[in-house]
Amino acid sequence: MMNPTLQKQFLDMSGSPVVMRLLASAYNVAEKAGSIVRKVLHSGDLGIVEKTGANDLQTLADRLAQQSICASLSRRFPKVTIIGEEDLPSEETSEDLIEDGHSEEILQKTCPAEYSGLKEEELVVWVDPLDGTKEYTEGLLDHVTVLIGIAYGGKAIAGVINQPFYNYQLGAGAELGRTIWGMPGLGAFGFQLKEVENDRRIVVTTRSHSNKVVMDCVNAMEPHEVVRVGGAGNKIIQLVEGQVSAYVFASLGCKKWDTCAPEAILHAVGGKLTDMHGNGYRYDANVKRMNSTGVLATLRNHEFYLSRVPQSVLQALKAD
Ligand code: AMP
Ligand code: MG
Ligand code: MG
Repeated sequence: MMNPTLQKQFLDMSGSPVVMRLLASAYNVAEKAGSIVRKVLHSGDLGIVEKTGANDLQTLADRLAQQSICASLSRRFPKVTIIGEEDLPSEETSEDLIEDGHSEEILQKTCPAEYSGLKEEELVVWVDPLDGTKEYTEGLLDHVTVLIGIAYGGKAIAGVINQPFYNYQLGAGAELGRTIWGMPGLGAFGFQLKEVENDRRIVVTTRSHSNKVVMDCVNAMEPHEVVRVGGAGNKIIQLVEGQVSAYVFASLGCKKWDTCAPEAILHAVGGKLTDMHGNGYRYDANVKRMNSTGVLATLRNHEFYLSRVPQSVLQALKAD
């Protein structure tokens, strides 16, 4: 006999549309990954490896968090295509990395009608186990996020962002970490939506992957202020919390796992994410990983920022 609590969980999980069950699991899985990211930091040994160079790093936390996310989700949703950032040898995942819980809050929500009939095999999950690795290794801990995006038919339809070190500056005693999630048609949760006041143009861009084209584009927006922080997830959080008004990155470098979850959450609150030409990215399983034509994300006034992108930038970032 199944105990009553387990039985209720089982019934709830089996009665909801698959995309809501996947999202509800992704919520807990992202929290588990966040706790792994904290644990590796506290162990003191980050196990840093350079991927393509000194500005493209992987740590033990990237590796363990990805193993945890991919193994946990694929165990529960074996037909979903799951694509993680890190190239890892295929080996058994230790049981202590598996998360099998889910968010009841998400399961209680009504799935937007257009997504309620989706099948497991139609869904693609994009995983950035640790976004802002460079900043993680430098102790800029609030720049770090865990990103799990869900796509269907090439579109980002749901996303979870865990910020493992949220509140860390408040010191011991403060509750560390938070999880934000969203789905267009349903809304976004886990933060307070806010817009920048007085139409000020506060542009956020990269701090560790800059070059002349990137800065030419930022300056062309005639910003009142420029903020440089790490991580795609972190920049989108700053956008939806009203600290900045546009995320401008006129360069290749960002990949589909960086933008899928953030884009879903941004769309859920009426924002927009495109490349520098104003075209959206697709998230089908077989697309090119690289977002070669840059990233422009806003909560409002997207057309204004697009109209300011200089010809020289468009020329440098030609669509292929
Ligand atoms: P950033 O704004 O520099 O933190 O970049 C956002 C995301 O894109 C992070 O996951 C970075 O690792 C990735 N990224 C951006 N530019 C590059 C690059 N030139 N090489 C490797 N990764 C990059
Ligand atoms: Mg990343
Ligand atoms: Mg990463």
